[in-house]
Amino acid sequence: MTKVLVVDDVEDNIVLLSFELEDDGFIVESASDGQTCLEKAISCSPDIILLDIRMPGIDGIETLQRLKKSEKTKHIPVIMVSANDADQSIVKALDLGAHDFVSKPIEYSVLSARMRSALRLIQTKKDLEKANKELERLATQDSLTDVYNRRHFYNLSEMEFAKAVRHKRKLSVLMIDVDMFKTVNDTYGHAAGDAALRVLAECCREVTRSSDVIGRLGGEEFALTCPDSDLEGAFSLAERIRENCQNKVITLDDLSFGITLSIGVTEIQQQDKSLEQLLQRADNLLYQAKEMGRNCSVAS
Ligand code: GH3
Ligand code: MG
Ligand code: MG
Repeated sequence: MTKVLVVDDVEDNIVLLSFELEDDGFIVESASDGQTCLEKAISCSPDIILLDIRMPGIDGIETLQRLKKSEKTKHIPVIMVSANDADQSIVKALDLGAHDFVSKPIEYSVLSARMRSALRLIQTKKDLEKANKELERLATQDSLTDVYNRRHFYNLSEMEFAKAVRHKRKLSVLMIDVDMFKTVNDTYGHAAGDAALRVLAECCREVTRSSDVIGRLGGEEFALTCPDSDLEGAFSLAERIRENCQNKVITLDDLSFGITLSIGVTEIQQQDKSLEQLLQRADNLLYQAKEMGRNCSVAS
């Protein structure tokens, strides 16, 4: 239900308007001065405000200005209620961000049409913001596992690399690969393989810090960038991820199976000129882990 805050210094005006608004299905809150309006705009979170221009104390224009200045209230559409059409304050109010105005005596059908128009606009804005957020998520996340996709992982990790170089801070990277994943797919099917990748992502999220950057580089290959972690810390993180994953039972319908991981771990060194060099070194160490019989972490 839509909540409307009616602001007017004349009690009778509030009562009359409230009748019609409530009849129309609105929930009505009221305030008889600017200060109360500002307080209720936060405490009642109205969807729309009807604001009388002429009020003693803080008048409608001043109240509007304050509503639009505050992060907490500036998104609420405001319809000004003016004494007459020729009121010069209307121009000012519209310039200050009021959505619309109505003149007294209020013609309810006109007011309600203007309210609907304001609410439609706000809804469209909300829908657009939601769609933009979703687009951003699609552009940065891997849709199967919800960790960052390759491109976004590189973008964030390169920023971390630059920060570590500038401030002479530690930085480590992990390169993770599922062991014999082809066999998992061949034995249990592609959907089970997908379920395993989701579990692997979960295993990483469960044991990492919020500052660690987790990405799926492609296929069954994941990477982590860990700011402020030295080699020892990164190796113990790798072992926690590996053990966490080994202990998980992956289930899909009536299938149940497990996977193991091989992990290469390295930390930033003075001669490193790019993140790519670190990732390449971690990849070589990952290859060594495979050579050593898989299901292990190798750090250097
Ligand atoms: P190793 O232990 O040496 O890493 O062996 P492996 O079988 O894991 O390595 P290989 O690179 O030969 O196989 C990777 C497999 O990963 C092959 C491919 O079908 C599978 N794969 C890649 N992407 C996906 C995916 O999104 N879903 C599923 N289910 N499988 C995938
Ligand atoms: Mg593999
Ligand atoms: Mg592979």
